[in-house]
Amino acid sequence: MPAAQIAGLDPYMSLIVGYRKSGLSLNHIIGCPLDCGYCVRHFWGNFEVKVPQLLCSTDEAVEKLTGHAAFQPHITPIQLFNKATDPFLPGVKPHLFQVLRALDARGYTNHVLVITRFTVTEADMDELEKLRHLKVTLLFTYSGITDPRVEPVAKSSITQTSVRTAAAHKRRTGVVLYWRPIVPGWNDAPETMAHVLDVGRDVDAIVFTGYYHKSENAGYLRGLGVDVPYGEDFHRRKTMPADLDAAVVAAWRESGITTPLFRKTSCGVAYAHGVPDYNGHWGVRELCDICPSLQRQRCADDHTTPTPAAIDQVLTHLGYETPYVIEDGHVWTHGLGEQRRYAIQHTLRHQIWELDQPHYLHAHGRSLNGHHPDPEQAEQFAALREQFATTARYEEDD
Ligand code: SF4
Repeated sequence: MPAAQIAGLDPYMSLIVGYRKSGLSLNHIIGCPLDCGYCVRHFWGNFEVKVPQLLCSTDEAVEKLTGHAAFQPHITPIQLFNKATDPFLPGVKPHLFQVLRALDARGYTNHVLVITRFTVTEADMDELEKLRHLKVTLLFTYSGITDPRVEPVAKSSITQTSVRTAAAHKRRTGVVLYWRPIVPGWNDAPETMAHVLDVGRDVDAIVFTGYYHKSENAGYLRGLGVDVPYGEDFHRRKTMPADLDAAVVAAWRESGITTPLFRKTSCGVAYAHGVPDYNGHWGVRELCDICPSLQRQRCADDHTTPTPAAIDQVLTHLGYETPYVIEDGHVWTHGLGEQRRYAIQHTLRHQIWELDQPHYLHAHGRSLNGHHPDPEQAEQFAALREQFATTARYEEDD
């Protein structure tokens, strides 16, 4: 992409390396022809760009990733092309493999998450299986939605075929069915759920989640005549009402498949590689009721409440500053911003929370749409704010 055009992009679109909850994310190619109706590119004015374009060379991109202040060999989970394109599009795939080979050649054992809904062949799996160090996981977005206005790729059976191919040829590569978005009225009918679960019969794990209900994608879909639920109740987090969560879990239990089901991406990815969750969700025990006992043990064994000395050490190492309060299962911080918070979370494999965006019981990482928060929790948050204010006052006095 010419520099002048890059300069005109939304800053989020031109950001080549950024930290997200599932990992440090490399996105030096943007643009996609797949036209998924709910695509997050609606939020940043990139949905109309159908041809993937390079923002910099792939060699430069690898240097930007490994040179990022928050990158730590063997620790930082990495995501490739998960923001604004599909990594298995023909024009993108050579760059995907180039990045993977470059990282693997350095001996890095980091998790690498690759999300796709496109064609993955046996030859692609052979390439992935040649890697010796990285823990690569393919996450296949498959929702069971058949309305081509919402899910145009569903007209073909591309994704289902790819899931089957990947499951049949994986040895060290993790394969996850990414069941999303699950939306009332679109794909929550029992037969649709049964079908998706059947597609996930032979993969390592199934991860389910809701969708980002925001005005930009809702406006686009409603413009096409699609019924979009949740009214005008837009949120920064994905929406997965409690009753829908329960219906998904019940459908999975009834399906008879043996593939484990997870609510969190990192949980499914970690399970696929036989390691504890790198986001420390064991600290939010309500998420773990559906997890296999062996995996629960892994996470329990790995879980340590960080001491102030351990937190101070990580903050110093990463060059961050924040007041913090250590509670059972998580650490509250203030004003770090998502990118820094996740870097600490992945280093400690422990939940790091933000005072201004608290997680509510039974709605971790989800919008409150379809949930009924406990009023006592609001009181706890108020007390916590007071505690932070007091800490800040003392710090100012020092
Ligand atoms: S035990 Fe809990 S935190 Fe660990 S992988 Fe399972 S669901 Fe995730």
